[in-house]
Amino acid sequence: MKNYETVIGLEVHVELATKTKIFCGCTTQFGGLPNTHCCPVCTGMPGTLPVLNKKVVEYAIAAGLATGCEITRHCKFDRKNYFYPDLPKAYQVSQLYLPICRNGGIEIETANGKKVIGIHEIHMEEDAGKLVHDPWEDCTLVDYNRCGVPLIEIVSDPDMRTAEEVIAYLEKLKLILQYLGVSDCKMQEGSLRADINLSVREVGSEKFGTRTEMKNMNSFKAIARAIDGERKRQIDVIEYGGKVVQETRRWDDNKDTSFAMRSKEDAQDYRYFPEPDLVPLDISEEWLEEIKSREPELRDAKMKRYETEYDIPAYDAAIITGAKKLADIFEETVAICNKPKEVSNWLMVETMRLLKETEQEPEELTLEPAKLAALIGLIDEGKINRTVAKEVFEKIFKENVDPESYVKEKGLIMVQDDGLLKETVERILDANPQSVADFLGGKEKAMGFLVGQTMKEMKGKADPGKVNVMVREALMARK
Ligand code: ADP
Ligand code: MG
Ligand code: ZN
Repeated sequence: MKNYETVIGLEVHVELATKTKIFCGCTTQFGGLPNTHCCPVCTGMPGTLPVLNKKVVEYAIAAGLATGCEITRHCKFDRKNYFYPDLPKAYQVSQLYLPICRNGGIEIETANGKKVIGIHEIHMEEDAGKLVHDPWEDCTLVDYNRCGVPLIEIVSDPDMRTAEEVIAYLEKLKLILQYLGVSDCKMQEGSLRADINLSVREVGSEKFGTRTEMKNMNSFKAIARAIDGERKRQIDVIEYGGKVVQETRRWDDNKDTSFAMRSKEDAQDYRYFPEPDLVPLDISEEWLEEIKSREPELRDAKMKRYETEYDIPAYDAAIITGAKKLADIFEETVAICNKPKEVSNWLMVETMRLLKETEQEPEELTLEPAKLAALIGLIDEGKINRTVAKEVFEKIFKENVDPESYVKEKGLIMVQDDGLLKETVERILDANPQSVADFLGGKEKAMGFLVGQTMKEMKGKADPGKVNVMVREALMARK
């Protein structure tokens, strides 16, 4: 078999976090009863006219600036005509000729060092509705709630070569957009979805091969598998003397294979023309400057600041800033309790563990900073020990309990009574003469058992450090 190289370019659709839709005042909220977030404009009733949401343009510009793009100062919208039941107007308002951002790029880390992935353009457009295939009745229903939700489409250059590079690019892009606040990028809700264009060519060849496109992928795992599967399929086609056909394919993650959906449409198939119901946009220097000046602190800057301002290790800073939501929780909690390393530990260890266990993304975190700070306070004041604290943290994470009332209700507060503790230690030593003898005979290990027994007797509600000291003292006294 010859040696092949994979060439990948992405078209990423991102739903913007504006309160209202792109051309009407309807809410953009995810979910809701079908067809309750709509009006005559977004359901394409004849005679209605669109009014552009200024915030959409602002978010698109912010995304362009943060990804090194040139902003197209005179830009306009175009009509992309196609018929599909989830698109009631039978056209989508998009941008073909003069997209708002062009010629940018973002830097990713790869196995072979840094690499820039070019961004060909970013354009604004409206989302379509959703078709719901009724599993009981033999019919398809349509929900227009998503119709007219603002999108930006970020088109990369065909610069990626491996699944790892694609994931690194998507993760970087996701973070930039989240930090800017232009999208929540919740992939499970479809706020960020990627179309994967992929071709293969012989190593050393200058010319790109024919590409296929896999649309609407919204999980990193599925994306990695789809890239691997499609790469192998194309190589097989070529090795057996066939030709790859330019087409749209659907990746079926359960079957681990892709299926041809339709032959690829070209721009002319859509009969694009300038949108006559919207005037072109002239973006002023002042507005551009204003948006630029409002750019929030992005990830790299935040990471550096955490190291210096909070004095936490680079390793911690990288993990915490790896999701905007985590960084927000970190800063808010530290603002309350002023214990950066402690907060960082809770986020890096227990929070990550529970996210994995509950199969959630950091964006879905509901952890309240005040509650985490209160928990840290309880440990600090010696009211609960770390084992109990872990249990309480899990309750905060999963059931949003209030840590102070929870430990009171469940009787988890540590016993502060040293007399009682001493008594217990003596009782345990009396009950375990063999361990006492072992320890006195030089077996250090025997002490661990006695400490464990005492903790058990105290139902975990004692300070393990203190118990350690007390057990050692009691043992020495029996020498
Ligand atoms: P269209 O407008 O027809 O969808 P574009 O040229 O705009 O096509 O490219 C769409 C996406 O496909 C871009 O992300 C681009 O990087 C990628 N792409 C283009 N040619 C190839 C190729 N031969 N192999 C892989 N990706 C490609
Ligand atoms: Mg395209
Ligand atoms: Zn509407």
